[in-house]
Amino acid sequence: MADLLPYVAGQPLVDHHCHGVLRRDADVATLESMLSEGAGFPGGSAFDSQAGFMFRRLCPPVLGLPRHAELDDYAARRAELGSTEVSKRFLVAAGASALCVDTGYVPEPVTSPAELGDLAGATAHEIVRLERVAEDVVAAGVGADGFADAVRSALATRTAAAVGVKSIAAYRTGLDLGAERPADSEVATAAGRWLADAQPGTPRLADETLQRFLVWCGVDLRLPVQFHVGYGDSDVDLHRCNPLLLTPLLRAIEPTGVPVMLLHNYPYHREAGYLAQVFPHVYVDAGLATHNLGARAPALLAEALELAPFGKFVYSSDAFGLPELYYLGAALFRTALSAFLQTGLEQDLYTERTAARLTRMLCADNAKRAYRLGDQM
Ligand SMILES: [Zn+2]
Repeated sequence: MADLLPYVAGQPLVDHHCHGVLRRDADVATLESMLSEGAGFPGGSAFDSQAGFMFRRLCPPVLGLPRHAELDDYAARRAELGSTEVSKRFLVAAGASALCVDTGYVPEPVTSPAELGDLAGATAHEIVRLERVAEDVVAAGVGADGFADAVRSALATRTAAAVGVKSIAAYRTGLDLGAERPADSEVATAAGRWLADAQPGTPRLADETLQRFLVWCGVDLRLPVQFHVGYGDSDVDLHRCNPLLLTPLLRAIEPTGVPVMLLHNYPYHREAGYLAQVFPHVYVDAGLATHNLGARAPALLAEALELAPFGKFVYSSDAFGLPELYYLGAALFRTALSAFLQTGLEQDLYTERTAARLTRMLCADNAKRAYRLGDQM
């Protein structure tokens, strides 16, 4: 890795979007399946990718192995150390001071925010997934007429100690959401439609009116609203995940002053940067893509920062399951930021003092401001 500017190397990160880590050891098959959002392919390895190259270059030394160690040797070393020690090493090496943890995606047991914070030596905060709360309300037996009130009340309880909420409308209906706050009567009609069609036992919310209702519930709680934007796994229809589709809704939310946090964004990071420039309440990151693009992460960051004001860009790893992904996200972000600022210094675009200030903003201060983390850290 290139030498980092000292203030980039030493600046603690606020990771504003991440998930828990696995409670179990990860064998080679687990590493293969969790390295990226990809589904793999017969006869191939997920590690033959930009993310894989960087994983094998950067991760083995954290466990005391040489760079590019064979995967079998790597998995054996992991098993020898045990999952807790492995998690601790990578999470500490990531250098985060605060984590905002999305607790709504749990395909298998993962650490709670408090446990994750303990492993990382960081303060952990919860982000509550809106659709999950609505689905829990319906699973508890609430009918269409009581849906709006029950969701508002469940959200007020669930977010009492949370610092933000998250919408996965991108995964369910796409981001082409209307702007208006739906009336309770419209919500009841939509909920009735949903309940009539829902599979028993596992209600899955995918309705434009209800997604929009949930977003406005988050705005009413005055909590920053995160949106999944851009790429994810094969469940997303990527062409419906362009953040520009959110423009009418962003315009409607603007007067409230509630921050809207656009997550991931790739390959729409330039569109997202535009939205961050023109809307004062919109923030953007490049999470998930940072470690998936590996050696190309500096190009991604430079493109995201073409228009996005430096006061509106935040760091996230979007790591899930493998503690290595927290470390990879952080290491590649630091490398990309350092290279970006170094180029600016060489071009005499700003002074060292300004570069240090920009580093504090991107790594931590912008997120602290948006989530009002100041009093809690
Ligand atoms: Zn995520």
